[in-house]
Amino acid sequence: AKRRQLSVDELEIGIRSGDRTLLARAITLVESNAPAHQALAQELLDRLMPETGKSLRVGITGVPGAGKSTMIDTLGAMLCEKGFKVAVLAVDPSSSVTKGSILGDKTRMEKLLGHKSAFVRPSPTGGCLGGVARKTRETLLLCEAFGFDVILLETVGVGQSEVTVRSMVDFFLLVMISGAGDELQGIKKGVIELADAIVVNKADGDNVRKARMAKAEYNRVLSFLHPCTEGWKTKAYMASALTKEGIPELWEKIQLFKETVQANGVFEKRRQTQNLDWMHELLNEALRQRFLANTVMHGRLQDLSAAVARGEVPPVKAVEDLIEHWVRLD
Ligand code: GDP
Repeated sequence: AKRRQLSVDELEIGIRSGDRTLLARAITLVESNAPAHQALAQELLDRLMPETGKSLRVGITGVPGAGKSTMIDTLGAMLCEKGFKVAVLAVDPSSSVTKGSILGDKTRMEKLLGHKSAFVRPSPTGGCLGGVARKTRETLLLCEAFGFDVILLETVGVGQSEVTVRSMVDFFLLVMISGAGDELQGIKKGVIELADAIVVNKADGDNVRKARMAKAEYNRVLSFLHPCTEGWKTKAYMASALTKEGIPELWEKIQLFKETVQANGVFEKRRQTQNLDWMHELLNEALRQRFLANTVMHGRLQDLSAAVARGEVPPVKAVEDLIEHWVRLD
């Protein structure tokens, strides 16, 4: 049987009173592509807006197998023990293709799931990255309104999704492992430039020596790069998500980061920029959709595209033509 659609009032009260079932229902609404659900979700977000913005948003990336899930489990459980409420979200635009999310995998977060103050939500399957990004952003806001202190946002460091996650978080952590000589293997250099910290994971047992070398190599690479956050020096650390060694120190660094950027104003400035960038992205998308929804413009775009492809019309001229027509139609 279909579940009854809850009203915005019910969801709002539920989230404000800390009801997890209703938080999950609200997230399902945000993740739905149905216009009616979208309208309800937007109304809910609008009402909860004053309650958002209070958590620390931490992005975590790294190649598959680096130990992201294990680290989130260990770090998250430690934070719960300190009395924090922790939410774990994932951004995985590929999950709709590979059928079944590989991120936010609950079976790999057993310690965390034993805590009542933890909440784990796998990646929405939104098809394109843009869809997943919108859903994750809105889910993040719902979680903040719910009262989570720390939001851990996981993504795979192999595509565009780490840029998207960077644009949603305060602190961005890159999880690496020591390789055989080629320390930068598997991760694009550009991703390193997005990081506020690099942690060489699996620094345990026979691995410690290699991990120390990898750490030194990353610190050398980092010394040539422009830091991602003004007033903060990105550095490499080592840890073991398995033995917990280095994890409390990593959290201390994140705390120090927060204090530093809150004091120099960069924290607030970054969030403002993120909000504005997001608004502009939404505006671009809305304009594009509105344009394409107009059948006259849609047809004209197709004709002009063909003419541009044949080299008969310069691209700039085609755009001018399209905009002029659109303005007249509107
Ligand atoms: P993810 O794909 O980045 O999320 O990686 P996982 O967290 O699933 O870890 C991949 C594998 O590495 C698993 O078998 C983990 O048990 C193992 N692993 C993760 N962290 C550590 C660590 O600190 N030390 C060791 N020795 N193994 C680890």
